Amino acid sequence: MTLSVETGDVERVNLLGLTRSDMEAFVEGMGEKPFRARQLMKWLYKRAVGDFDEMTDLAKAFRERLRLIAEVRVPEVTLRQHSADGTRKWLLNVDRGVNSVPQAIEMVYIPEPGRGTLCISSQVGCAMDCSFCSTAQQGFNSNLTAAEIVGQVWLANREIRGDQPVSNDTSERLITNIVFMGMGEPLANYRNVVAAAEILMDDLGFDISRRRVTVSTSGLVPQMLRLAEETNCALAVSLHAPNDELRDQLVPINRKHRIAELLDACWYYLERQNARSITFEYVMLDGINDQLEHARQLVTLLKHKPAKVNLIPFNPFPDTRYKRSPSAVISRFRDYLNANGVIATTRRTRGDDIDAACGQLVGRVQNRTTVRLGSKLVSLVTEA
Ligand code: SAH
Repeated sequence: MTLSVETGDVERVNLLGLTRSDMEAFVEGMGEKPFRARQLMKWLYKRAVGDFDEMTDLAKAFRERLRLIAEVRVPEVTLRQHSADGTRKWLLNVDRGVNSVPQAIEMVYIPEPGRGTLCISSQVGCAMDCSFCSTAQQGFNSNLTAAEIVGQVWLANREIRGDQPVSNDTSERLITNIVFMGMGEPLANYRNVVAAAEILMDDLGFDISRRRVTVSTSGLVPQMLRLAEETNCALAVSLHAPNDELRDQLVPINRKHRIAELLDACWYYLERQNARSITFEYVMLDGINDQLEHARQLVTLLKHKPAKVNLIPFNPFPDTRYKRSPSAVISRFRDYLNANGVIATTRRTRGDDIDAACGQLVGRVQNRTTVRLGSKLVSLVTEA
């Protein structure tokens, strides 16, 4: 805990970033019994309560002390969009201290029959520089804290449910799946992403099953190997090309970790996790990686392996040199994979009318910012 000289305020601990053991250590540090940690987590996650005054089974004195040193703070919503197909998108600001400009991230909710997927961000911007990704054009700004990552899910719960308590009946949940497929490379923010995933999967936390929390990576092999030992969430890998020459151009991290090394890390991950399969994301770029020859190479890489291929129709953004593959080409590619021993599906595009694809909304807002108003992001977001 630090004391800020300008304001005299204590920098409060954001409870949303604490794993169960952190929370126990925290309440113990306050001279309280470990069961207080359970009580706090129940209020935070099962009841989605963020105001200590409402936590009525905690002693008043404890609540007052909590108010002094702790807080429940979530990113600030600056824009809400609702698509005709039910997809919802939020633009969020994360606070970066007294004098810094707020930074924008995004979050998307995709409801489907029997399930609801929340797509969250792990960084402001991204340093991976994939050539077909609009987030890459913004460059890297900063890592999100564990509290900012968990705070997205907490906030989405409140936004979607209103003030209703979280049901114990898992079939009534509105958010059943979490994917780290918003802005950022989750494994480049390893420590915070792992802590956040732990809170999301903890039965005292969001209690989401481990198969339904998916970390998506562009292929940071050393971190994948570490992840295999330290957590147990599902893994998706952004493959996007079936040979090194092409992948070097699309996903530059490939120059460091080649496809063969990446796939070895994938199979190792599955073995350690005792999990069923890995999802390989493959963006369909017109004339670049969508030919039958590419499908044939993909079959050579993945045939009879515990792999599923998810074809993503490319989402264009301003100034991109790529185009989306025609739907007939995507179908042909998918059918070829399925006919040759590789399970493949096509990701349905959702929320097209609100630009609910990776990096798009933030990209647009930031473009305008640079053109018109320097760093005045907030006023622009309201305008967008
Ligand atoms: N850094 C992580 C998460 C990125 S976003 C990763 O690389 O996996 C999730 C997925 O969206 C990734 O597979 C990413 O490659 C893909 N993606 C990025 N830009 C896209 C675009 N313009 N159209 C379609 N998919 C895109």
